[in-house]
Amino acid sequence: MLRAVLLGPPGAGKGTQAVKLVDKYQVPHISTGDIFRKNISEGTELGVKAKSYIDAGKLVPDELTCEIVTSRLLEDDCANGFLLDGFPRTIFQADKLDQFLKENGMKLDIVINLSVPSEQIISRLSGRRICRSCGASYNIVTIPPKKEGVCDRCGGELYQRKDDAPETVASRLKTYDEQTAPLVDYYKNTGVLADFDGTKDAEAIFGDIVQTIG
Ligand code: ADP
Ligand code: ZN
Repeated sequence: MLRAVLLGPPGAGKGTQAVKLVDKYQVPHISTGDIFRKNISEGTELGVKAKSYIDAGKLVPDELTCEIVTSRLLEDDCANGFLLDGFPRTIFQADKLDQFLKENGMKLDIVINLSVPSEQIISRLSGRRICRSCGASYNIVTIPPKKEGVCDRCGGELYQRKDDAPETVASRLKTYDEQTAPLVDYYKNTGVLADFDGTKDAEAIFGDIVQTIG
């Protein structure tokens, strides 16, 4: 049983840790970014709504995002826990989540905050490549796949996210500073926040997180 949130700036390594954590704790991985991207590629109504915000490095509106997450959390596979990745991203979303958990008799065990200095984030995002099939992420400089353009885990094709283009990255960082960074104090105040050094290598960070979860 694990009910956790992954917090941190874009490119902090949330997705990388998420894959390892859901494997170890056997809980569903709920990534709002993945949900939006899937809907965009399938051309659903949600995808059409979300696309313009994502491409501009802005957040998808709170009401819409909250509705998607709360209905996902009500699915059976979340009964024994979940890992939220990229949600909440605003105080509004955090309040909504809190209210939802209270109503359903649940509490967060931990909010995992990955910190990485903003200078490093820009180079991480520009080198990032994602697997089209399983969503695993790589970095052509720091964590390259064994074979160029091919996912180590599943053999899928690697691609660069459109919102990892330099123009959009600046806007995403601004959005993070203005809207998401305040969540660090929000969760510090409730005592569930645990800080991790996101500049360490992924295995070491994972070890630190597992040790803290206990
Ligand atoms: P990253 O953490 O690398 O920025 P994500 O995949 O989590 O990437 O998110 C990609 C984009 O999807 C965000 O820039 C934003 O536009 C949108 N998005 C994801 N999660 C949320 C959320 N909780 N609220 C609003 N928009 C979101
Ligand atoms: Zn893959």
